[in-house]
Amino acid sequence: MECMIAKPSKGSAGKTGLWRTFKPIYDENKCNNCLLCWLYCPENAIDVVDGKISIDYDYCKGCGVCAKICAKKAIEMVREEEL
Ligand code: SF4
Ligand code: SF4
Repeated sequence: MECMIAKPSKGSAGKTGLWRTFKPIYDENKCNNCLLCWLYCPENAIDVVDGKISIDYDYCKGCGVCAKICAKKAIEMVREEEL
């Protein structure tokens, strides 16, 4: 059986990275590559590169959905000014 997943196209709302107050910081060592963050990101700002996730900060609007959905706590939201 084929599985179809509808996702928004990246950039359909412009460069949403400019909206960001909090930035998701990804810890590859905690990640188990479940790809739930990729599935749930409303801006399609998470890419999968060589089986690992990569956040495209040009389009990440800092909503925090990826951090909330991650059971491994591999994504932490950090205020932009603190970086
Ligand atoms: S949800 Fe968390 S564990 Fe799953 S791929 Fe994303 S960062 Fe990794
Ligand atoms: S914070 Fe996470 S879920 Fe939200 S736009 Fe950025 S990468 Fe996607």
